[in-house]
Amino acid sequence: MEKSPGEIIWQEQPYVHILSSQMRQELCDYCFARVEKLKTCSSCHVLRYCHRKCQQLDWNVHKLECKCLKNVSPEIPTDSIRLLLRLLIRHKNGDHEKLFSDDPLWRRSFQDLMSHSVDIKQDEERSKQFHYILNVLPTLIGQCFPLPSTEILWETFGKMVINSCSIQDEEHKDILGTAIYLGASRMDHSCDPNAVFTFSKTKMTVRAIDHVTAAAPQQLFISYIDTRKPSWERIKELQHRYYFHCRCSMCTTKCEEVDRMMSSIKCPNSECNSFIGLRRDEKNNSIWPCIKCQKVPPTSEEIENLHKIWDESYSHRLKVDELYKQGDMKSTLQFAENKLCYLRKRHFYKCNVNYIEIMDFAKDACIQLEFWEKAADYMEKVSNEIFEIFPTINISVGLSFLKLGKLQLYLDRTQKASNSLKVAEKILRVTHGPNHSVYRLLIDLQQQCRMFLENSS
Ligand SMILES: [Zn+2]
Ligand SMILES: [Zn+2]
Ligand SMILES: [Zn+2]
Ligand SMILES: [Zn+2]
Repeated sequence: MEKSPGEIIWQEQPYVHILSSQMRQELCDYCFARVEKLKTCSSCHVLRYCHRKCQQLDWNVHKLECKCLKNVSPEIPTDSIRLLLRLLIRHKNGDHEKLFSDDPLWRRSFQDLMSHSVDIKQDEERSKQFHYILNVLPTLIGQCFPLPSTEILWETFGKMVINSCSIQDEEHKDILGTAIYLGASRMDHSCDPNAVFTFSKTKMTVRAIDHVTAAAPQQLFISYIDTRKPSWERIKELQHRYYFHCRCSMCTTKCEEVDRMMSSIKCPNSECNSFIGLRRDEKNNSIWPCIKCQKVPPTSEEIENLHKIWDESYSHRLKVDELYKQGDMKSTLQFAENKLCYLRKRHFYKCNVNYIEIMDFAKDACIQLEFWEKAADYMEKVSNEIFEIFPTINISVGLSFLKLGKLQLYLDRTQKASNSLKVAEKILRVTHGPNHSVYRLLIDLQQQCRMFLENSS
């Protein structure tokens, strides 16, 4: 059956899921509802539920998990160990062989998932993580059930790291938990997807964002990563996290326009206000001529030099990321602004990915520091640049315009807020649908906007 943009294609609850440790005591461990008083499991004192019903529904897995948690109490295992433990309990119960869903197109068992265990065994970081888990498991499982063989553990671990996804809150501010969805895992990746998924608590909804000929997973492509990057960064990330080389249309035939913009450097012709593009893919150190005047830097030395400046700016971007992760917002902002000023003066064109990313960190630091005016200025620039490069239906773009509109409204930049919310509405109507709480929040903000504008005229 054909589907149009915005139509729901598929909905499901996870095969396994855990609430992230940061959300503990805030949300129900089973349904992720936020309630005032959560009821703590009287046996392990770790999991909390909004209602007896949730506790009963979770008991199938928690019954054994509860005993395991008591083995290591008062310590609580990390999120990934908890997710793996839940998978092992389902394995012990024989659930890994069961086909979930009645729909033959989407039916799948945990056993059917790809594990990439060969790649994972060769991946230093993930191997290390696995061996750490291997050390912890015997104490955690204790006498609760027989410890599965190392082969089963590798398989389960591999399927977990490849197929699990983060459940984000509505505005993509926090990660609420981690889960595995069996039906959705049948959909392959594309950097130019024709479907998107959203969450409403633990329920996943897949919607078409383009016309699709059949609502079957083989015809649908979602994006596994944030696609707002040049092709060489997307390809690298997909290889690193999912062990495949992306050959989607965006990474092969259609990549030039985005790559050219995101690697832009000011045109060397001082009378021209446009840009040249640095090719940063395998044809390293070559260049796209200016989009307007067709000029290129006259010597190969100059081209070389531009690539050097690129490498430098990339290392600044990593440094800002590091400062931000360390939580020092003042240093993050100071460093970012210093570099932005330098890059702007020297060579950089506004849609350059390193420039945008550094600006995005400056914006996040301003939000943390509650410098709202400045945060809005940066947010306006980042959102508009990104939208110019990716004018398609993209959840992250839609949500960034929603957040921008909200902040602009708060700062009395009402007309600007109205414009931002309009962009957000066009995107979120398709990605989230009119009944999703995010969309309702948006409509609410638009109404406030209209009211302010009417009162002021
Ligand atoms: Zn609940
Ligand atoms: Zn318990
Ligand atoms: Zn791709
Ligand atoms: Zn030019």
